[in-house]
Amino acid sequence: MITVKNLHKKFGHLHILKGIDLEISQGEVVVVIGPSGSGKSTFLRCLNMLETPSEGEILFEGESITARGHNINLTRQKMGMVFQQFNLFPHKTVLDNITLAPIRVKKMEKNKAEAVGMDLLQTVGLQDKRDAYPSQLSGGQKQRIAIARALAMEPHVMLFDEPTSALDPEMVGEVLDVMKKLADKGMTMVIVTHEMGFAREVGDRIIFMDQGQVLEQGSPQQVFGSPKEPRTKEFLSKVL
Ligand code: ADP
Ligand code: MG
Repeated sequence: MITVKNLHKKFGHLHILKGIDLEISQGEVVVVIGPSGSGKSTFLRCLNMLETPSEGEILFEGESITARGHNINLTRQKMGMVFQQFNLFPHKTVLDNITLAPIRVKKMEKNKAEAVGMDLLQTVGLQDKRDAYPSQLSGGQKQRIAIARALAMEPHVMLFDEPTSALDPEMVGEVLDVMKKLADKGMTMVIVTHEMGFAREVGDRIIFMDQGQVLEQGSPQQVFGSPKEPRTKEFLSKVL
């Protein structure tokens, strides 16, 4: 579904991503781990061109999205993204947050969009919050709404950048549960997280990034159970 070839990203003279090669298959759950500053967010943002790669190519469903003239807006509709900060529209209700893009971008009829929205609220367990405003929700509820909002565009892949890092500990589980449910339904997902238990349980593949490179990757069993690289071992010894 996604092919990354020799991806480099520089910010001025800072060389942040140093040649990443990766293939992500349909239905795969790829979890990206690694130290702070290793380039995980930059990598994720390159996948949907929120950052423009300095070098290399990214193919999405067979199409080069880094090619000049490619319509990235169309591609972005197929790539849902969920950030650490929820970025909900504060003056819109929960249901309006979810239906906004389908109505405006996909030209979906309001009734249809609201029906889809209510289904998604059920998926994330928040039907009773349809008329609430974001300020009336807990962090965990906001993040579940942010996930529902991304799903409303019927993305082919979901990108998560530390979706639980801003949450109080007691709310982490409810968000991870929603993500696990998505994974079980076969959603293709790329997830940056420090939740190692979740990574181990839900990930099909673990990618360890360090200093702008993929240093090691493999099944959760391989990477957590018998890491090859000293830097992976060192990182895991600190977070496990
Ligand atoms: P991670 O998500 O693994 O913590 P990031 O991708 O956020 O890492 O950042 C990797 C490095 O790139 C950091 O040193 C960060 O300061 C730098 N960086 C990220 N975005 C920018 C930017 N827009 N301009 C300059 N440097 C940046
Ligand atoms: Mg980051």
